Amino acid sequence: MAEREDPVLFLHNVARHYWQGDATLDILKGAELAIWPGQSVALVAPSGAGKSTLLHIAGLLEHPDSGEVYIHGMPTAALGDDARTRLRRTQIGFVYQAHHLLPEFSAIENVMMPQMIRGLPKQQAARRAAELLDYLGLRERLSHRPAELSGGEQQRVAIARAVANAPRILLADEPTGNLDPHTSDHVFDALSQLVRSAKLTMLIVTHNMEIAARMDRRVTIRDGMVAELD
Ligand code: ADP
Repeated sequence: MAEREDPVLFLHNVARHYWQGDATLDILKGAELAIWPGQSVALVAPSGAGKSTLLHIAGLLEHPDSGEVYIHGMPTAALGDDARTRLRRTQIGFVYQAHHLLPEFSAIENVMMPQMIRGLPKQQAARRAAELLDYLGLRERLSHRPAELSGGEQQRVAIARAVANAPRILLADEPTGNLDPHTSDHVFDALSQLVRSAKLTMLIVTHNMEIAARMDRRVTIRDGMVAELD
């Protein structure tokens, strides 16, 4: 049966080249990827295959050389920078391998920040930030600065920040790559629970096959194209 809904994220015929001196590196050569509402997808591919490039294009951080990125069926290539930024701020959350928290701000302030940039009143932002951090098991850590948190706690704050504006799409680039296996499991469990309860659509780059196995779908990048695994 045909899908009745638009994919949340649809990369259509996406090409991206880099130039190195006289040589052209064809990283993506017409890649296609449709991710459906609530689906979680692992992107597993060797280093240099183009995973970060694809994630940045999907997150509207980078323009493809050709092709189109649809968010909820809406084409984005022709949008101006302001409209892209607005779409990214409201629809897309990012979690990176390094937490990139602001060191001089507390956990709760780091999670309030994107909401206040979006224009939410401080009190409302604080309430949502506290709820999210509580949900992620950090109720006792609200006023800690990043340096006063463990690696796993820092990454949970980064996850809370990524979903602070209630995005529909979560893009994660090896979110547990810097953590020891035990902490990695713990953080990944918290992430999965949040993704399920908020019905988020997730694209996660990972080298961890156990994590990949727990996603709805696994894809790779082969010869500049997205290919299904399994
Ligand atoms: P992955 O995330 O799978 O390791 P990337 O998407 O980071 O791969 O990079 C894919 C390839 O493109 C790599 O060979 C990388 O060196 C190259 N590359 C990435 N960004 C640039 C850039 N700005 N200029 C030139 N080459 C780049």
